[in-house]
Amino acid sequence: DPFEIVSFDHLIDDILSFCKERLKHHSITLIKDELDPNLVFEGRQIEISQVILNLLNNAIDAVDPLPGDNKWIRISAKNNGSFLEIKITDSGNGIPLETQSKMFQPFFTTKEIGKGTGLGLSLSLTIIKNHLGEIFLDNDSPNTCFVLRLPNQQV
Ligand code: ADP
Ligand code: MG
Repeated sequence: DPFEIVSFDHLIDDILSFCKERLKHHSITLIKDELDPNLVFEGRQIEISQVILNLLNNAIDAVDPLPGDNKWIRISAKNNGSFLEIKITDSGNGIPLETQSKMFQPFFTTKEIGKGTGLGLSLSLTIIKNHLGEIFLDNDSPNTCFVLRLPNQQV
């Protein structure tokens, strides 16, 4: 498939309407920072949607066991130079260093049998590399925060 110019605003609205019921069912507050309507990237919309959904699913799993009033996930996006920068932050208990060092490997999961394939972050990394972007855990954030960077234009 060729790369296309994708409006991030529309992409995120589609994902959030897809997740809305599940977030509500788990009593998770979704905080969507006001997005600039002009945010775009050049890529494959379905693949990037899959990556964001993987990150949201991991965030849901991380916050679900917490007490009701402390279950939140924040999504933000802005232009950062020639990159679109997306952040997905959750109120979970963080990721142990030992897990951090393995979590992008295929089939690595800390979830119960049947609850995780361990492929989410590995596939996400492959997709983002194919888009010449970056995906990493922001170690300066006080909360668990995954950062995605996608070039506005492929050269
Ligand atoms: P899966 O979700 O199937 O376990 P992933 O590749 O998506 O596989 O994630 C690998 C592991 O990384 C998870 O099992 C979990 O231990 C850790 N992880 C990923 N995202 C988070 C998060 N937001 N909070 C805590 N741990 C996480
Ligand atoms: Mg996952």
